[in-house]
This record gives sequence, C-alpha cells and structure tokens, in this order.
Amino acid sequence: MAAYDFDLITLGAGSGGVRASRLAAQAGRRVAVVEESRVGGTCVMRGCVPKKLLVYGAHFADDLADSLGYGWSMEGADFDWARLVVAKNTELNRLEGVYTRILRDNGITVLEGRGHLSDAHTVMVAGKAYTAETILVATGGRPSLPEVPGIEHAITSNEALDLMQLPERVVIVGGGYIAVEFAGIFNALGVGVTMVLRGDTVLRGFDADVRASLAEEMTRKGIDLRAETVVRSIERAGHGYTVLLSGDETIEADLVMYATGRTPNTTGLGLESAGVVVNAKGAIMVDALSRTSARNIWAVGDVTDRVALTPVAIAEAASFVRTAFLGQPSAMDYDNIPSAVFSMPPIGTVGLTEAEAIKRHGYVDVYLSRFKPMRNILAERDERSMMKLIVDRASDRVLGVHMVGADAPEIVQGFAVALKCGATKAQFDATVGIHPTAAEEFVTMREKRPEPSRA
Ligand code: FAD
Ligand code: NDP
Repeated sequence: MAAYDFDLITLGAGSGGVRASRLAAQAGRRVAVVEESRVGGTCVMRGCVPKKLLVYGAHFADDLADSLGYGWSMEGADFDWARLVVAKNTELNRLEGVYTRILRDNGITVLEGRGHLSDAHTVMVAGKAYTAETILVATGGRPSLPEVPGIEHAITSNEALDLMQLPERVVIVGGGYIAVEFAGIFNALGVGVTMVLRGDTVLRGFDADVRASLAEEMTRKGIDLRAETVVRSIERAGHGYTVLLSGDETIEADLVMYATGRTPNTTGLGLESAGVVVNAKGAIMVDALSRTSARNIWAVGDVTDRVALTPVAIAEAASFVRTAFLGQPSAMDYDNIPSAVFSMPPIGTVGLTEAEAIKRHGYVDVYLSRFKPMRNILAERDERSMMKLIVDRASDRVLGVHMVGADAPEIVQGFAVALKCGATKAQFDATVGIHPTAAEEFVTMREKRPEPSRA
C-alpha cells in the first residue's frame, strides 16, 4: 500500500466536512481538512445560524407590538440594526472557535487555503501537495445569479447578512427558502419589500395549501408579491436602483437581492484529473453510498445537489464514515426528511405534499385546519395558522404533516418521528393533546376535507 500523508483529506470544513472529519478521526484515521474561508461553512457562517439570529431579532418587532394587547406599553422602544449585526458577528466568531477546536481536539490537521485535486490521491493547497488514501469532497455551494443586465448591482444572502444599514425599500428576486426568509426579516423591520417571482407563487415544491397560506400572510403583512414576473434589467438611479420588470413596469429600490438558487462549488476543483464525473449543473454525481465515479473519492452535502439542508449533509457524512471506515455500508435514508422555512410566519413540514400523495397512493384523506392562534387574539394580530394532515386512505398511514404558523418548525420536528415510525391517523387520534397549544390540533382533527382528493 502506498504511504499517504493522511488516511482522509476532506475538502471543505462545513456541515458535512466537519462531521465526516471528526467521525473518521474518532475511528482512528489520520485526517486533514482543507478550508478556504471560515471553519463552520455556509450553515454556521453564512446560512442557518446568522439567518436565524436575524429572524429572532426581527421577530421582536411583532412581539413588542403584540405586547400592547397584554397590558405592556413600549414607549421609547428603539431598534438598532447595526448593533444586531455586530452581536450576530460576535456569535459567529465564537462558533468558528468552537468548530476549530472540535477539529484540533480530534487531532485533525486544518489546511488553510483553497484546495484542488491534481490526481485521485493528491490535494494541492497553497502550492503544497498532500496525499491521502481517501478523499471526501464537501465543498458546498454558492449563490447562483442569472444573466440579467445590471446583475452586478444585486446582492445575495451573503451580503444581506452583513448590511450595516437597513434599506428603506428592497426588491427580492426569487421565491424559495432564502427569498421568503429574508422578505420576512426585512418586512418585520419596516423595510418595504417587493418580491419578484417567476412562478405563480412562493415555495415551489411545497404543499399547495402551505404555499397559499404563506403567500396570504405575507401579503397581509404588506409584502408586495409580483407573481409570474421577471426582471429585465437593473439600473443605478441616484443612491438606489430602478428595476425594470416584464410588462415594462419599473420599481425603485435601495437594494436588490437575488435568491435564485445555489450552484455546487466544483469549478477549479480538478475533478476531471481525478476521474470524478459532474452533472450539467456542476454537481458531483454519487451513488447511494455517496461514492463518486473515482473509487477512493466520495462527496456529501450541497456539492452533490441532493437535499441542500444541514442535517442531511451531516447524516450523509456519518453514512460515509460508516461505509468507508467502519465496514458498515450505509445509505442515507431520504424518506420523510422534515424541513422548516423561517419565514414570518414560519413553516414546518414533513412527508408528502397532497399532490405527491395522490400521485403515489391514489386516494388520500385531507384534514385541514385554519385558525387564529390564541396568542393573536388579545394582540389583535390578524395572522392565521394552517395545519394539514394527509392520510393514505388504504393503510390509514399519515403521509404528510404541514404547518404554517408560530412555532411550526418546533412542532413538526416531533411529528417527523411519528412519520418515520409509520404512524397511522388512528394513532394520531389516540394521542392525548397538550392543552392549550396549537400543536394539539394535529391530534384532534377529525373532519375530513369534504371533497376527497382522487387519483
Ligand atoms: P458548506 O456548509 O457550504 O461547506 C462547504 C465549505 O467548503 C465552505 O466552508 C467553503 O468555504 C469550503 N470550500 C469550498 N470550496 C473549497 C475549496 N476548493 N477548498 C477549500 N475549501 C472549500 N439549511 C438548514 O438545514 N436549515 C437552515 O435554516 C438553512 N438556512 C440557510 C440559509 C442560507 C442563507 C443558506 C445559504 C443556506 C441555508 N441552509 C440551511 C443550507 C445549509 O447551509 C447547507 O445545506 C449546508 O451548509 C451544506 O453543508 P455542506 O457541508 O455541504 O457545505
Ligand atoms: P431555492 O431553490 O429554494 O429557490 C430558488 C428560487 O429562485 C425559486 O423561487 C426559483 O423559482 C427562483 N429562480 C431560480 N432561477 C431563477 C431565475 N433565473 N430568475 C428568477 N427566479 C429564479 O433556492 P434558495 O436560493 O432560496 O436556497 C437554496 C437552498 O438552500 C434551498 O433550496 C434549501 O435547500 C437551502 N436552504 C434551506 C433553508 C432552511 O432549511 N430553512 C433556508 C435557506 C436555504 P422556481 O420556483 O420557478 O424555480
């Protein structure tokens, strides 16, 4: 056997790379991880964590307004966006230290710089060659921007997280996870938000009732949704921008943000020199065990463009380590992956949408509840929640659990366990609710939607 410098070199110290490196080191392997930016990767430095901190920050605007109905008075309440951004950055620095310590405490060598492969066993970093028997590519993705005249004026989520001043008016292009989350943050903080959607509404791929409920609530909050509209050009106009839309309408804005999906980070990685095949989008092609077309090279996380969520990258990383180093071939299970959108109000979802359920199972029963949560009554907040169960009529199994409303991500996590266990509607019905909560609605819904869905 060739004498390699390491047993494993991981490219990218993000969610997948850190987990795989740590588990491989704990299995006794000699590991190095290459990182060109900040240890922690997208989720910790430019994604889930800073975004959620801003969501918390923005939510206080609603909470303070609601508190008036509960007897509080808030004279003199003030908000300083720059202070929130600085506090958020302090927390990111702390987390970067935590992740760096995890690597060092596990005896992992951190190679700082951009890495690329020069052959199937050699990684080049800052002009030096490092060899390894096994290589894991976990380089994630980056924002992808369409070609539109004036696109250089647009920012992405990377910059939106670090604005030192809030704009008065923002145009957000895209209607996916990132677009609706940032629309919620900006809107709650008093920024005028226009969303430009090429589709008919937000969040393609989500259940139709989830999409409609969120769009309704966003509109009620004053977000201007321009559906079936595309941007033709962006031009500088004084201190702001003029955005020309299809239909020849123009919008004036202080900031234009694009959240139009992400591209896998494979450019310049030297994958061809190692025999690693990528698809048309540049994503690394892998088998069910996350192995690439080169036998000793594996890939996990966003760079493979499977399900771009942190817990998925982490689970793929753990499966890779079991397969490659522990002699237990383990394929990641992609069924019933729950997810949340931290919009305002937020979404929690697990399992099939109604349309998917009908396609796969034929006859389904739908239970749907829309209500004003108790908290909103004294607050006089006109915001409704939507909860929906989709049940396979033949087996009584619950196929989908969807919620739009306060605490939906926290509530749906537990129901994801039930779906993973194959719970039936009868078992949901036999579960005693916790009162008074919104979550109890999921175990008390008895009325089927009158028009049964048919295949
Ligand atoms: P990453 O975390 O992207 O890590 C890849 C690392 O590789 C990076 O640190 C990068 O600098 C490094 N790298 C790239 N190329 C090289 C190279 N050639 N050499 C050395 N290093 C390199 N997911 C959720 O589950 N929940 C959320 O709430 C959520 N919110 C998000 C919000 C935003 C704004 C964004 C952008 C994403 C969000 N995601 C969320 C998605 C989540 O961040 C990703 O799915 C996750 O980070 C993927 O992990 P990864 O290991 O594949 O890649
Ligand atoms: P998404 O794929 O979720 O959404 C992209 C949006 O941009 C869609 O509305 C899409 O429209 C639109 N779009 C794509 N191309 C164009 C174009 N050329 N012109 C106009 N609109 C366009 O990507 P995001 O960037 O929002 O997020 C990337 C991924 O990161 C997510 O899919 C998710 O996996 C992950 N993420 C997870 C979060 C969470 O868990 N809470 C939060 C943030 C990100 P159409 O629907 O018509 O294709």
